[in-house]
Amino acid sequence: MRKQYKNGDTITLKENGCDGCSPSSVNGILCHEQGCPDRWRDIPKECTECGAEFYTNSRHQRMCSVCMEDSFDRAHCDMDVYFS
Ligand SMILES: [Zn+2]
Ligand SMILES: [Zn+2]
Repeated sequence: MRKQYKNGDTITLKENGCDGCSPSSVNGILCHEQGCPDRWRDIPKECTECGAEFYTNSRHQRMCSVCMEDSFDRAHCDMDVYFS
C-alpha cells in the first residue's frame, strides 16, 4: 500500500491508503470515499496565476510553487523600490 498522498504528505495508516477514509481501489486507481477530509491531497488544483495543474501542500493554496516564488520575488522588489 502507498505511503504518501500525491501532494507528498505522509499517510499514517499504511494499510489503508488514506487517513481520512477507507478508499476503494478500482483498476489500480484509488478512490476516496465521498466526504473524505483528506481527498484534496490527491486532487490536482489549477494554478490561479499560470493555469498549471499542481498538488497543494495546504488546503487553501491557490498558486503553484513557481508562481508563489514569483510573487514572493515581486514582493521583495516592491520593498527595494520602497526603501531606495
Ligand atoms: Zn480518503
Ligand atoms: Zn502557477
